[in-house]
Amino acid sequence: MSRAPLAFVSHGAPTVALENDAYHAALRAFGASAPAPRAIAVVSAHWLTHGAVAVTGARRHRVIHDFAGFPAELYRLDYAAPGDPALAEEAVRLLAAAGLPAGVDPDRGLDHGAWVPLRIAWPAAIVPVVQLSLPADEEPAALHSLGRALAPLRERGVLILGSGGLVHNLGQLRWGEKDRAPDPWAAAFDAWMAARLAAGDVEALLRYRERAPHAVRAAPTTEHLDPLFVALGAAAPAERAATIFEGFRYGSLGMRSIELREAA
Ligand code: ZN
Repeated sequence: MSRAPLAFVSHGAPTVALENDAYHAALRAFGASAPAPRAIAVVSAHWLTHGAVAVTGARRHRVIHDFAGFPAELYRLDYAAPGDPALAEEAVRLLAAAGLPAGVDPDRGLDHGAWVPLRIAWPAAIVPVVQLSLPADEEPAALHSLGRALAPLRERGVLILGSGGLVHNLGQLRWGEKDRAPDPWAAAFDAWMAARLAAGDVEALLRYRERAPHAVRAAPTTEHLDPLFVALGAAAPAERAATIFEGFRYGSLGMRSIELREAA
């Protein structure tokens, strides 16, 4: 079995689920770019845990509409993908073998950081999905180790997906101006990250907080950037970032999404 794809996507605002623009076309193209994976393991910014990593054990998912104040039709959207309890157990074993405590959560559904991009890229909802929680308040290096522990899943046909946001500061967004040009500070941070991703400079990326311009403004809290480090940890040494989509919404919401793969 060939190694399954690996990606980090910026999932944007929940209303992305109701739109259909270049971002959607790019995610759809990514989803269709390779044979459907055997399963998908997703880590999103919207399920944070302290201590043990939790892994969804449900046989069939329900979605969580974990947002407030959005149009009613958003709350009617569903993504009833099958779960994969055996894969959940396998992920727990891999994490435990790496010294990372983990356990199955039999009840948890998919949050919008997971189901919104999955619904765009794999709309048929037939590929089994497990979601893993994101350890809260961990350093990028620890999240990278978590990704490395999960990397063997890719050799068994499991696509690994990190879902967050490359630039994510809700207080800076200009709601109502979806297609506004990016603010310079957001563009500078995004460009710095994109250059290191393209070069495979993981060491610099793990230290973005000291090194990247406007890092604290771009990620005042880190949960939307943290899934990127999990994804980087699951990459093979020769794999580099290839752009799935780049751009901004609302003046500074970074939508950069990447696949990690070997150069063709
Ligand atoms: Zn989010």
